[in-house]
Amino acid sequence: MSQAGRPLPDLEYADFAPFWQGTARGELRVPACVRCGRRQWPPRMACPACGGLDFAWSSIGDRGRLYSWTTIGRAMLPGFESEVPYTVVIVAAEADPRIRFVGRLDPAHEPPAHELPGIGDPLVAVFVPVEDVVLVYWRPDPGGPVPSAQEVQS
Ligand SMILES: [Zn+2]
Repeated sequence: MSQAGRPLPDLEYADFAPFWQGTARGELRVPACVRCGRRQWPPRMACPACGGLDFAWSSIGDRGRLYSWTTIGRAMLPGFESEVPYTVVIVAAEADPRIRFVGRLDPAHEPPAHELPGIGDPLVAVFVPVEDVVLVYWRPDPGGPVPSAQEVQS
């Protein structure tokens, strides 16, 4: 348990260590299969496309689109009591929409409930140091790409 009283990522956990090393540099990094190039998230032992076992981590950019969200009204873990309500989001990476991150809206810029972003709206990652880890929050990205009419209809 951290000093803040809330659980924080284990930076020593090898499967995710490259991700947290990336956030410390302001990058969202994901592993890609060395054999076929397919990115994956979360990390897996083997590539689901070709079975490859070797991966290279690289940045996927800091932009995404809202895939889904929910607002948490009741703290289910210790340390979050002072933060409710907050909004958890699933964000599809702009560079590869198959890659979806679970995160939360930036509490410093969380809009009121009636102004929450809509599904498909552009979001941008922000990197927020908390103790010895840099967490990723998401903010609406008014300068981001607008969904095309075809995307809106599908
Ligand atoms: Zn592969």
